[in-house]
Formats: sequence, C-alpha cells, structure tokens
Amino acid sequence: MPSQNAPASVGAPNAGVLHAGEHLDETSIIRVVPAFAGRDYRWGLPSLVRGLERAASLVNKRFPDSMLSVGDMSRKSGGEIGHHKSHQSGRDVDVGFYMTDREGSPLYAQRFVPFDGDGVSSAMPSARFDDARNWTLIEALITDPSLRMQRVFVSAPLRSRLLKEAERRNVPLWIRLRAAQLLQQPKTGVPHDNHFHIRIGCPPGQEAYCEVSPRTPSRAAPPPTPAPRNRYGTTQAPAAARKRLNPASQY
Ligand SMILES: [Zn+2]
Repeated sequence: MPSQNAPASVGAPNAGVLHAGEHLDETSIIRVVPAFAGRDYRWGLPSLVRGLERAASLVNKRFPDSMLSVGDMSRKSGGEIGHHKSHQSGRDVDVGFYMTDREGSPLYAQRFVPFDGDGVSSAMPSARFDDARNWTLIEALITDPSLRMQRVFVSAPLRSRLLKEAERRNVPLWIRLRAAQLLQQPKTGVPHDNHFHIRIGCPPGQEAYCEVSPRTPSRAAPPPTPAPRNRYGTTQAPAAARKRLNPASQY
C-alpha cells in the first residue's frame, strides 16, 4: 500500500479511493462549469491536476481568451461519486468542449452542451464545436508524457471531426494514431456528445495497488444473491441482479 501522505490512486476507477490528492483550482484559464460548481468534486492525482493546468495554458497561449471548462473529477478521498460509475480514484475528469458562437468568439455555457457530427447543437443553436481548440487540447494531453493518458471518451462523430482537424493541420502521424487509439465512444452507456471524459493511467511505482482498468460490474458491485433453481434445474438471475451485471456505464 502507499506510504502515508503520498499521493496515490488505490483500486480501480470504478472501485477505488484517492490518497493525498490535489485540488484543481479555478484560475483565469480554468473554469468550473456552473452546473457542477455546487459540489467540490475537483480532486485528483497531482499528475492529472498539473496536466490539466498545462493543457489549459497551452490552449490559452495559442487561442487567447480560452478557458478550460471542467466538470467532475473525484471526491477529496475518492470513492463513489454521484451518478458516475468511475471517477473514484483520482484518475478521471470530465471536460466540457471548447465552443464558439456563430461569429467565432469563445462561448461558455452553464452546463455541458451536446453537439452532433456537424459541430452544431440543437440544445444551443448559437453554439459551434470548436475543432481547432478541442484538437489542441487533445494534442496537449496526448503529448504530455507525465500524464500517461489512458482514454478519452467522446462520441464517434466528434471523434471523426477531431481526427480530421488533426489531418488538416498535418499533425505528425504518431500523434494522430495515438489520438485514434485514445479517443473512443464508449461501447455502452452515454455516447459522450457533450463532454470529454479523460482518464489517465496509473502513476509509475503504483502498479501494486492501482488497477489500470475498471473492474467488471460483477466485481465492482456486491455480488448478486444466487437465484433459486427453477423446475428445469437451470437458474435465472433476478431482474435486479441482471441489471447490475449489465455494464450500462463505467464512466
Ligand atoms: Zn466522466
């Protein structure tokens, strides 16, 4: 186990805790999306906090007046958190998309705004998905070795937009290949068309207690009560247990 007071991610993203995490503070370039401001779930591994600060700074340098829009990370000591299945061990963060208005000026909303593959939003017709700034964020995260990026969940149509933007800019092939690997729409659960869910890997030296991947639902949740055998000698799990085993969302 980790030594006392040493920052550590213990367990899995969906069954874990955070030791000695750091707080991500609001700054002139990092804002908390108001819908998430009522609860202080902005703790994480120091490497995640520093990495977000560096990425926000890089986007801001290339595109003045840019602010990174942050939602939930983890609780101070990790563990279960609201409606999230993961976000438990200080390695996950939700980040809202960079957006512009119709004229191309940065736009900031009270909550995460969903976008379709055309980069427009039926929920906020004036908003546009900002390919340039969103790609710059992704590239900053991918090329930051101390982050050890593991996954970025985002919907398939937005993933395509981002990879096309990278191609347009002639981004080195290895970065585009890495992005294609990291950017994924989850196979189950919400498609992530209104935010990036970013997950970093285990920090070096923490392999003994930090679990890289989420646990399967059957290991993350208490085991379902065994179903009684029916008259055919087979078993059918109760509806509640079947639901629990169904990996609806791990994010
Ligand atoms: Zn998330």
